[in-house]
Amino acid sequence: MNVDVMTRPAVLILLGPPGAGKGTQARMLQEKFGLVQLSTGDLLRAAVAAGTPAGKQAKAVMDAGGLVSDEIVIAILNDRIAAEDCRNGVILDGFPRTTVQAQALDDLLSSTGQKINAAISLEVDDSAMVERISGRSTCAGCGEGYHDTFKPPHNGACVKCGSTELTRRADDRAETVASRLEAYHAQTAPLIAYYKAAGVLKSVDAMAEIDKVAGDMASVVRSVIG
Ligand code: AMP
Repeated sequence: MNVDVMTRPAVLILLGPPGAGKGTQARMLQEKFGLVQLSTGDLLRAAVAAGTPAGKQAKAVMDAGGLVSDEIVIAILNDRIAAEDCRNGVILDGFPRTTVQAQALDDLLSSTGQKINAAISLEVDDSAMVERISGRSTCAGCGEGYHDTFKPPHNGACVKCGSTELTRRADDRAETVASRLEAYHAQTAPLIAYYKAAGVLKSVDAMAEIDKVAGDMASVVRSVIG
């Protein structure tokens, strides 16, 4: 692994609608920079699968494509970010999604003396998001992401771990995607102005091919860490 060197822990935020490629890019940045990807979507899906009280409350909202309450998400994020493996820095994938969450993150970071290096907005056309989302799947073995058209598994198997068990998310159905895009525009898109005002906003054209986007993301990250 070729890990770029950092002198202090980085906090990176990925902003963008569902389907913009936040998860894919976060995993690539994780490998390249030795940071930890923190996906509140993954944490919530794990809570649902484990049947925790938070998971039970979150399930119906997630299935309908809405946003889980700030209270639940902030508690889950606070817990996870305090773990030892996050000491080198984190890539927040899918958090914050509301202004209340952004303020909670600011409070948390100021209490630990950390700051946000960059909030990177993945710029995409909404019209392409339904196709991107409806074709995607995830390797059940290692979590690698695939897409029927743009990144198919090799002969039906994961190129990373060889598993042939690929799963699709329940909320990736076309009818739910519309609600998720609506929630993004109503509640999350205002964070672009929030982070612009804070002087940490960066933008990347995320309509390009995965590797080109990854290169542009890495350049942005290099320019803000160290
Ligand atoms: P994602 O995997 O990021 O697409 O998230 C999947 C679903 O989990 C979303 O549609 C929301 O229902 C829920 N979710 C994930 N992150 C958040 C968040 N920061 N705030 C509220 N709901 C969230």
